[in-house]
Amino acid sequence: MRLGVCGWPVAHSRSPQMHNAALAHLGLSTWRYQKLPLPPHLFAETVRALPAAGFRGVNVTIPHKEAALALADDATETAKAIGAANTLTFEHGRIHADNTDATGFLTSLHTSAYEKTALVLGAGGSARAILYALQQAGVSELRVWNRTEEKAQALADEFGAVVSAQPADIVVNCTSVGLHDPSATFKELPIEADDLGAGCTVVDMVYRNGGTLLLNVAKANGAEVVDGLEILVAQGAASLERWTGRTAPDQAMREAVADIAR
Ligand code: NDP
Repeated sequence: MRLGVCGWPVAHSRSPQMHNAALAHLGLSTWRYQKLPLPPHLFAETVRALPAAGFRGVNVTIPHKEAALALADDATETAKAIGAANTLTFEHGRIHADNTDATGFLTSLHTSAYEKTALVLGAGGSARAILYALQQAGVSELRVWNRTEEKAQALADEFGAVVSAQPADIVVNCTSVGLHDPSATFKELPIEADDLGAGCTVVDMVYRNGGTLLLNVAKANGAEVVDGLEILVAQGAASLERWTGRTAPDQAMREAVADIAR
């Protein structure tokens, strides 16, 4: 049985190592997970051909998540509400779409978001999933900030949030700031190190060897932190369970991505 991740580019993806470690751990020796580099104009026709080539399902990443939802025969309420899919499953001649980013995020949070305030930085694909997750979790106020303000306003209208960069109990970085240049973190994001202290949970979707500057500062200030790698593992585990019907071996998956990070 074959699995994979469709993206463009996809060379950087850690999903194959993570999923192949999980498949080996589960003893699914005939299953393989591979990278599927697909430019946008080939996405839909290639995905439709995958079941005949022995594929059970695929993860979908930038820039195909919206196209994945559009081509599916049916989709979960979560994928429809987010407006994007990261998991496709091929079953009985049909394509099913799901989005495990939201549940992956809530699983990784290790604290209830209910009645807390939350600030989401960014208005791209990952911000949509996180805003949906926080809305579902019952936060008392959902704030969104983005460099391009019109995009923040559009998402705020859609998810019942306000456009604001006011510090909050839960702060989630859904921008790519900090990925390549850690020194940009406190220059390009509207937050101060002093806002990230005890009682605050700080999540960075971005992951880097040794942790991001945002998380390292927050941790030093006494905040709870959630690394993007944890969310990668949690969303991957949910996808794997959908395809195999087996409980995902989280620890083996975590070790596989940590090995690459080292
Ligand atoms: P998108 O390309 O959809 O969105 C990028 C966001 O980053 C936009 O809001 C953009 O703002 C903002 N941004 C980019 N550069 C800057 C800057 N210099 N200053 C301020 N804002 C900036 O990306 P995604 O939402 O899919 O992903 C965001 C990050 O999260 C990526 O680094 C990705 O690797 C990571 N990620 C991690 C996952 C995980 O499992 N841990 C899952 C998905 C993503 P603007 O609108 O103004 O351009």
